[in-house]
Amino acid sequence: MLDLAIVGATTVTPSATVRADVGIEGARIRRVAKPGDLEPAVKTVDARGMLLLPGAVDAHTHLDAEMFNARTADDFESGTAAAAAGGVTCVIDYAFQTPGQTLAQGIERWQEKARGRASVDYGFHIAVWDPSQAVCDEAARVVENGVASFKIFMMQGFEERARDYLRFFTAAAKAHGLLTIHAEDQHLIGYCTERLLTAGNRSVAHFAASRPPLSEAAAVARAAAMCKLAGAPAYFVHLSSAAALREIRRARAAGLSVAAETRPIYLYLTEERYLEPQGERYVGLPPLRSAADRDALWQALADGTIDVVATDHCCWKLSEKLGLDRFTRIRPGMSNLETLVPMLYCEGVAKGRISLARMVDLVATNPAKIFGLYPRKGAIVEGADADLVIFDPNRKVVVRAPEMHSRSDYDVFEGFEVTGWPHMTISRGQVIAADRKVQARAGRGDYLPRAAFNAQWRSL
Ligand SMILES: [Zn+2]
Repeated sequence: MLDLAIVGATTVTPSATVRADVGIEGARIRRVAKPGDLEPAVKTVDARGMLLLPGAVDAHTHLDAEMFNARTADDFESGTAAAAAGGVTCVIDYAFQTPGQTLAQGIERWQEKARGRASVDYGFHIAVWDPSQAVCDEAARVVENGVASFKIFMMQGFEERARDYLRFFTAAAKAHGLLTIHAEDQHLIGYCTERLLTAGNRSVAHFAASRPPLSEAAAVARAAAMCKLAGAPAYFVHLSSAAALREIRRARAAGLSVAAETRPIYLYLTEERYLEPQGERYVGLPPLRSAADRDALWQALADGTIDVVATDHCCWKLSEKLGLDRFTRIRPGMSNLETLVPMLYCEGVAKGRISLARMVDLVATNPAKIFGLYPRKGAIVEGADADLVIFDPNRKVVVRAPEMHSRSDYDVFEGFEVTGWPHMTISRGQVIAADRKVQARAGRGDYLPRAAFNAQWRSL
């Protein structure tokens, strides 16, 4: 006897999008069957008219993170509640190394933050701030222990230690770890910023000009050269511009193992937002771009240049973003976990820009494959964790910050009318959210040690 049967939905499996019933036993998907073919179940959910998707894997979050002399508004409790409500059943959060400490100490600090608080499953990347010899020596052990990806910020001291970073790239590659790279060139940005501030241009209206697309493209090219020397695979986070995408294509054509991520804000918003009153609310790194860049990103989602859409969920109270005397001091980042899946469905699938199967690849299957969680996560297949979203393609929701589960008190998509919203989110066989209400107990989320990077992930 099955514990749970979901019947009547249009189900997205790796091979096809078809009418199929899914049977769950305990925490796992036991059967994916033709309609009407399942054995009896203790509980049956009638999902006619709904889509059945694998739970999303958000490969880029910052929960309970200390940055810019403050702590992000969401910790693992509120952040994963927003995830559950939005159909995200797994997050991979960025743990931070404290300079002078080991990577293991940074990871342990993040374990303490998440333990007892997360309501969806979670894993970690580790951000490397100090690429010392000791840290190079530690890389293999960190990967073996399930943290198989390293974040590199090409800013705040990267240039000064580029050779140390190159040694670290080599060590990471040897350890079968994946470098996740924030690509922005600190010197180009420094120059543009200085020029603006010297001319008295301090307001957020000038923020986008301080970090132009070519500073992103130049950094992608530079990192790609370093990865080539080191023999290291790379994953570029939150790409925002057509120029950077051209560098991704060039690196791939040169034979590098390169994966690419973008982030929702660049798909739905453009740089004119910084001219609005409270334009600060839209500040993230890199900045919002032009409509032509936005269109290039959509094209890249469709043609396979971009592999993953992840949130970079990193949010603040509005009061923490406003009132600063220059754009360089605005805390970057915003809330996005609850809107990731429905907005990509509405703006991408319903508007004919990408297929439903492609959307599932972008938010679930690809991140699970790239980050060593597949096939336990990321696809509706027999034997996988029963992480599922029953998605109502017709439900209309207007985004309103007070109705969201993030502790951030504003939403960059406030007032957006979204058609299509999760009806029910299931994690390891348990209903954790239904009708926009979270039912999960804080602490039920499991830590997920991840497998080493597999350069053949596309053919898994
Ligand atoms: Zn980030």
